[in-house]
Amino acid sequence: MTGPRKRGKFLAMDLQIFRNFIGGRYTEPVSGEYLDNFNPGTGKLYSKIPSSDSRDLDLAFEAATMAQIQWEKSSSAHRAELMNKIADLLEAEIDDFAKAESIDQGKPIHLAKNMDMRRSIENFRYFAQILSQIPAESYEKDHYRSIIQKKPIGVVGLISPWNLPLYLLTWKIAPAIACGNVVICKPSEFTSVTALKFAELTKRAGLPDGVINVLTGLGNKIGEAIVKHPKIPAISFTGGTATGRHIFRQAADNFKKISLELGGKNPNIIFADCDLEKAVDVSLRSSFLNQGEICLCGSRIYLEEKIAEAFIEKFLRRIKRLKVGDPLASDSFMGALISKAHLEKIKSYIELAKKEGGQILIGGTDPADLPEVNRQGYFLLPTVIDGLPQKSSCVQEEIFGPVVSLHRFSSVDEAVTLANDVSYGLSATIWTESPQLAKEVSERLDVGTVWINDWLQRDLNVPFGGMKHSGVGREGGHHSIDFFTEARTVVYRKDFL
Ligand code: NAD
Repeated sequence: MTGPRKRGKFLAMDLQIFRNFIGGRYTEPVSGEYLDNFNPGTGKLYSKIPSSDSRDLDLAFEAATMAQIQWEKSSSAHRAELMNKIADLLEAEIDDFAKAESIDQGKPIHLAKNMDMRRSIENFRYFAQILSQIPAESYEKDHYRSIIQKKPIGVVGLISPWNLPLYLLTWKIAPAIACGNVVICKPSEFTSVTALKFAELTKRAGLPDGVINVLTGLGNKIGEAIVKHPKIPAISFTGGTATGRHIFRQAADNFKKISLELGGKNPNIIFADCDLEKAVDVSLRSSFLNQGEICLCGSRIYLEEKIAEAFIEKFLRRIKRLKVGDPLASDSFMGALISKAHLEKIKSYIELAKKEGGQILIGGTDPADLPEVNRQGYFLLPTVIDGLPQKSSCVQEEIFGPVVSLHRFSSVDEAVTLANDVSYGLSATIWTESPQLAKEVSERLDVGTVWINDWLQRDLNVPFGGMKHSGVGREGGHHSIDFFTEARTVVYRKDFL
């Protein structure tokens, strides 16, 4: 494997030792300290990643600042060419990256390839071409003309979570560097491996040293140092709502530009006139894809009373057939959860659900038939809970795992009220064959994205983000370009130029 180095003292345990990527080079952390990195599918320690601190940030900031001088002057056509080369190289190495992501994150390898890596490639191709499509903005009034320039921000901090590691980090890196910025990335401490591999790949594709830097480590150490750094004027963050709130406060001291993509507790509303087979089929994915560890998963299923029992019967029958197992096996629908602590947290929610009046219809335990190699991994069966009151913690709080709750409604108003009755507002799914009903309900939901009779269809042009406690700002298409640039207005008399 390129980059990570094996060091003598760890050889006996055959651990891979990863290093930060600063100024185009793999670099040891100044402290010499590393964090243990576990394989969720086996529960075994398999690598170490740097535990970075503000001294590593100083090095990365210096490298980034040096790189920025040339990078922001380069033409958008040149930047687009390099970004397309990066996409080509990632496509050529897709199997290697998918395997690394699956081992590091616990997700099935086919999902890592067909969702995470394909989207990472698309992120780069998309933002390579969008720059040339942005219309020049100018206005004329009286004797004056005003033109709007989109200026790169400079060194931008990008902080990402563990559920879609390279997918979400490249969703930030690609627009940031396309606009002429340089970046310091802080991937999740649970899933840093593909970010480090990717940074090295961009160098091989010809990206100048220092344009992309990756520092790994703990959120409250290196993450916080990036957020507080007085000369990093913008932070794009994806992660939990509590962390986002903390970052928002910290960033306020320096009036940083900030984008927050946060948690969700998304409703999946199923009306009686829907195509039931399709609703069941897609609801399996929207409930349990990626072990339910997607911010857009529909974890609250609202069923119109008339079809509730029919849906539940079909849903449970299909769940029994879902394979939970070795992330590296081609037939696993679900792999392992990210960590032992996360598995314990989800199990504690399942226990709480029982106390809150919920009945576990299926799941709630580890799979019984795991291969020997996976017995210490962090697995949980898809879990469905019925009978929970709307105000219970398990309905109001984000569990972020393979757990969904079932609820019934008898009118459109009731469905909308229940769907909106959480502090989150990321996305929703509606199932109905009535275009009027779909239109009415979509307009009444307080969420950033509504899918009608489908789920997770993503066009990278559209604004993406959440309402309420699910986020601040929008990314995607021109919204990303607006975030990663400062608009500057230049005004002059028309007869001057
Ligand atoms: P998290 O908030 O614990 O961590 C996210 C990142 O922030 C990590 O890199 C972490 O190290 C860093 N961090 C933690 N504390 C920090 C601090 N004080 N300062 C700076 N950085 C800090 O989230 P997670 O557990 O990694 O991810 C799961 C969450 O992410 C879920 O809530 C999920 O809904 C959310 N998410 C949202 C979206 C979206 O687009 N809205 C997408 C994916 C995941």
